[in-house]
Amino acid sequence: MPVAEVLLWQAKFRRVFVVLVGLGTISLKWAGVLSSKSVVADRFGAHAALLVGLGFVIVYLGWNEAFTAYLRRHRDAGHQVVAAAVLADMVLLFGIMYVITPPSEYDRGLIVSIFTVQLTQLYFGARATSYNLLTVAVLYTVVVLAASDAGSLATPSEHLWDLALFLLGAALFAKLQGQVTQRLSRIVAVFERAQDGDFSAPYDESLDQMPDSITVVGRAFNRMRVHLETIVLTDPVSGCFNRRGFEQLTTREVSRAVRGQQPIAVLAIDVDHFKRINDEFGHLTGDEVLREMGALLRETARLGDVVARIGGEEFEVLAPDTLVDGAQILADRIHHAFETRPFASLGPNRKITVSIGIAADTARSDQVAKVLMARADEALYVAKRNGRNRSEVWHPGMRAFDGTPPGRRSVEAKALGSNEFPVT
Ligand code: GH3
Ligand code: MG
Ligand code: MG
Repeated sequence: MPVAEVLLWQAKFRRVFVVLVGLGTISLKWAGVLSSKSVVADRFGAHAALLVGLGFVIVYLGWNEAFTAYLRRHRDAGHQVVAAAVLADMVLLFGIMYVITPPSEYDRGLIVSIFTVQLTQLYFGARATSYNLLTVAVLYTVVVLAASDAGSLATPSEHLWDLALFLLGAALFAKLQGQVTQRLSRIVAVFERAQDGDFSAPYDESLDQMPDSITVVGRAFNRMRVHLETIVLTDPVSGCFNRRGFEQLTTREVSRAVRGQQPIAVLAIDVDHFKRINDEFGHLTGDEVLREMGALLRETARLGDVVARIGGEEFEVLAPDTLVDGAQILADRIHHAFETRPFASLGPNRKITVSIGIAADTARSDQVAKVLMARADEALYVAKRNGRNRSEVWHPGMRAFDGTPPGRRSVEAKALGSNEFPVT
């Protein structure tokens, strides 16, 4: 969140706080409920000191107004405005303390400064907090030494020891709180990725040396992650990856292949005359065939291959580390499996065949998967045209379509194909 925006709403808090605490204290002292002794009161009288204190409050409120107006005009203000806000707070706090508080009660200044340190830590991070603590240390020391110089404080060392304890406690607290903020932002990051359908990153628990409620949320996310990943990335009908899953895994495989300049192959598979299956057996059986087909393809492919249902009855296999020859062998295995293994949903006498388009290349750029998918699609069309139940390997001279660039045509064809039976 922009610094100026946070400071703007904090300015309101500061105003209310200063009016309540500042005017409250002055009133109580004026009424004699609290002691009105102070270094300044000793010299100029109690009422004069309280009036100076009131002056501090008024000047601060004026500064607060001007600061707010500045922030409204400079929404892109950087961290230096945080430093200015912190400095103004601290000058007011320790200034007014010097003017209206008995030196024996100076520790109150440290108690009140917790409020500012807290605001700084929560919204502006570790560096601003260190600066805030430094200002407390310097101003408190100055006030204590000045009171001691004026002869109003006999034992400054006691106060300086209080300051040391305060700084130690506040720094420790700020560090712990900083870690909480950091871990919360890690949780937010994994949730944001999940929102985009990317469940690859778990919440990293190893950094939680002291497990707490954030760790519990992280663990819950990790349990949910695997389950959600399955739902979002797989196709419920075939049990294979869906288009989203295919794209995500392809991106991963491609960047690995590009790094090692390894070959990569894509097989585009389309069932021959699937309409007839639906016409003969009905859509429900058609779906059952798709389920069996998904299982068959996954069994036939290698373990590292990515098998996905891309459209209605179109599947795609991404085979890492595979040249054309290897892809051809895989295609033959697929044809053989369809030939020899009966589909339970259709009975032993009804065969299904598929046509396969093959494209393979060395992965030289991140675009390789897109190009290979378009080429495999083109080869698939040629396989259909050449009589079905066969595979064709893409080659540069191949012209399946009339004039449309392969990438465009295949994307359009797929978009149309997936309209009827969208793959979730
Ligand atoms: P060919 O590919 O050999 O040219 O003929 P085809 O009959 O398979 O034609 P095409 O691939 O163009 O059409 C796909 C048909 O598959 C259309 C639709 O009837 C059927 N189909 C697509 N998706 C599903 C699905 O999810 N479930 C079922 N039951 N049928 C589907
Ligand atoms: Mg078909
Ligand atoms: Mg089709």
